[in-house]
Amino acid sequence: MKRLLIAGLAAFLLAGCSEQSEQHLSVIDNIKQINPLEKWLSSKEKSVVDGVTYYGDTIIVNKSISLPADYAPGENAEARAALDKLMTAGTAEGLNFAIRSGFRSYDEQDVLYHNYVARDGKAAADTYSAEPGHSEHQTGLAFDLGSRESVKDFTISFGDTPEGKWLQTHAQNYGFIIRYPKGKEHITGYQYEPWHIRYLGDDLAQDVYKSGLTLEEYFGLVK
Ligand SMILES: [Zn+2]
Repeated sequence: MKRLLIAGLAAFLLAGCSEQSEQHLSVIDNIKQINPLEKWLSSKEKSVVDGVTYYGDTIIVNKSISLPADYAPGENAEARAALDKLMTAGTAEGLNFAIRSGFRSYDEQDVLYHNYVARDGKAAADTYSAEPGHSEHQTGLAFDLGSRESVKDFTISFGDTPEGKWLQTHAQNYGFIIRYPKGKEHITGYQYEPWHIRYLGDDLAQDVYKSGLTLEEYFGLVK
């Protein structure tokens, strides 16, 4: 009997709660309808939390914006689930995607970058590799894809493979963008990387894709 009473009370309280949150939601919806411009502006507002830079809800890492050395979230589960969907869809169309890299820690990037500098010199290395703290792979939201044949992996001609071509027209449907596009090298600071995709979530990825802009341009970071 006591248990029943408690269950009843809980159900009553829960019902009360959901009613309240519905009311709360409808107020927010009204504000959105009244002022879509304000909503749009706040969705692009800059904030820095524990050394991590956001524009709206989106983490931005590039040549000038870095992450703290101890920022190590690992592979982002939502991004990975989206990547699995993308690869399954590709497989259904006869493609053979292979994941070549994903999350990379500050220390791993440190080793990688300095190996490239030793091999090719800093100026060349900077066109295709990030200094530690500046790699998008440290966010856990970026992946490098190749094809199972792997011959053109990490080369610009990956963009001409069936996998590379498909990515250019379908990545946004799974919440990703090609982060370093062709013709935008002067903005991103990186060579064209048809294999490097960045997870943004469905809506933002579609929006950025349709805009034809890099993330830097989209968020107004380009002077
Ligand atoms: Zn990459």
